[in-house]
Amino acid sequence: MSIYKAPDLSKFPDCYGLSIMGKCSRLTLFYCQGKECAFKQSKEEYSVLKQSAQKRLASLSISKQIRIAKKYYGGSMPWKEDETMAEKMAESKNY
Ligand code: SF4
Repeated sequence: MSIYKAPDLSKFPDCYGLSIMGKCSRLTLFYCQGKECAFKQSKEEYSVLKQSAQKRLASLSISKQIRIAKKYYGGSMPWKEDETMAEKMAESKNY
């Protein structure tokens, strides 16, 4: 028998950082702070903001992109991968 009890997630906000155990995976907090949390973000909001940030990164000069990739992404450019994937999906729809 488990000593842990799953929390009632309906009491927590709609946030992509919320784990199924009611813990926060976005911040350095252990438990979710609830509906008053200033950092809560739904999956849709997160997706829109991520796309916007990746679009912005892709619009920078290649030298700036390389510098940012090295400093923050371990040398990879996830915004390029998503861009390539979006282009492939658009191309496949045209056929
Ligand atoms: S503490 Fe804030 S960011 Fe973390 S899961 Fe809860 S609402 Fe989301």
